[in-house]
Amino acid sequence: MMNTAVKPETRTEEPGVVYRTVCQNPGCGFSFDLKITPKNAGLLGGTIACPRCRRHGGMLKPTGRLGDKRYSAKLVFKAANIAYIARSEEEGDLFSEMGLSDY
Ligand SMILES: [Zn+2]
Repeated sequence: MMNTAVKPETRTEEPGVVYRTVCQNPGCGFSFDLKITPKNAGLLGGTIACPRCRRHGGMLKPTGRLGDKRYSAKLVFKAANIAYIARSEEEGDLFSEMGLSDY
């Protein structure tokens, strides 16, 4: 008599969620499905590139839920490193002029 242990392996769906991501790069607006699985979950905390405009440095910002394991998100980009050159208006705190006595 065989006692076949049948494991309830009926789960066929893969782990992870899908983000319907919309690129926020001006002039692009491309939307694509980004699959987030435990393997690439780091994408949520890092930056990705838009598959259309190829702009790098996009950060995934979830904006809502679309359905079961489906979410909407925006691919937002930081503004380019804008370095405002702040002119320091420091008072001229020069070293007190040491009277160099001529030898
Ligand atoms: Zn794009």
